Amino acid sequence: MAETPLTTGGEVGYLRIATEEAYAPIEMLDLYRELLDEPDVDPGFASLMGFYLRSDAERPAAVRRKLADLGEERLADMDAAGVDHAILALTAPGTQVFDPARARDVARLANERIAEACRAHPDRFSGLAAVGFEDAPSAVAELERGVKELGLKGLVCNSHIRGHYLDEERFYPILEAAEALDVPIYLHPQTPPRDMIRPMLEAGLDGAIFGFGVETGMHLLRMIVRGVFDRFPGLRVVVGHLGEALPFWLYRLDYMHAAQQRAARYQGNPRLELTVSEYMRRNVWVTTSGMAWVPAIMFCREVLGPDRVMYAMDYPYEYVPDEVRAQDALPLSLPELRRFYETNAIEVFRLDLTGTAEAADG
Ligand code: CA
Repeated sequence: MAETPLTTGGEVGYLRIATEEAYAPIEMLDLYRELLDEPDVDPGFASLMGFYLRSDAERPAAVRRKLADLGEERLADMDAAGVDHAILALTAPGTQVFDPARARDVARLANERIAEACRAHPDRFSGLAAVGFEDAPSAVAELERGVKELGLKGLVCNSHIRGHYLDEERFYPILEAAEALDVPIYLHPQTPPRDMIRPMLEAGLDGAIFGFGVETGMHLLRMIVRGVFDRFPGLRVVVGHLGEALPFWLYRLDYMHAAQQRAARYQGNPRLELTVSEYMRRNVWVTTSGMAWVPAIMFCREVLGPDRVMYAMDYPYEYVPDEVRAQDALPLSLPELRRFYETNAIEVFRLDLTGTAEAADG
């Protein structure tokens, strides 16, 4: 079979929409550098941003340059990889290392910049809103501004909020706003919090290699078992890295969770209306960021359903055009490939790509 060319414009039969693409304002990276110099800095933050902001090696240097670019370099990289459209979000840990006042200011700045790029290149970029989660009323106001005034398509949450999780009632107003605005929350990883990271850090397992997925998968599971999706049944959550390993665990999660509920083992957990896997198939979508691995993608399509699995590159942390070729070669029909690359993203993020090059049957 001939290789699909890495061209844009839909001539391959679909638009490639990359759904987990990172951006960082230069000003935020400068604030990160200041934070790295503070005593008792969060160990995960020190590990992650100490590396990306201070290493002289080629890859981290390229990542920090590309993170801050919303113009020529990013568009050229998208062109070279055949990516038509990127959904931009504030990179991890985003606002979620700052005190509430600074978090709010950084969120506003990031949202302005991302919205500006979307206005300049509406065919190439959409964006998600950042907020300062710890001040819930201001987070709700900024999410509403981001969606209604700036045209942003969702909310990014870079996993734990200084050791706290979205299932806590203090964050309910934000979840309620996302549900009411009909926008998804992209639950993106960051390094595990202080209470969780020590055994990972000493073995170099705290970052994208493993710790990210463990912590973020747990975050989503907390939201499920603590009843968030009974309280907010219309809430949509998107997770990267093929669901942060949860699809592989579904059988055991359902079995053990049902046993816990029958025995009323954990008094703090509510009785749920659905099984864990039913929430995964009702409220959760997964993307292939950093997981261009055919058997894992096909497995997720099988256990979650083909409407719930979509493409992401994870730029600029992962920029490998051959990964696009690998996913073009998934054993799927053209309509199914189009669903994977294009339609699912349009539906979940409510994208309006009219005016963009039409895909094959358009
Ligand atoms: Ca990412």
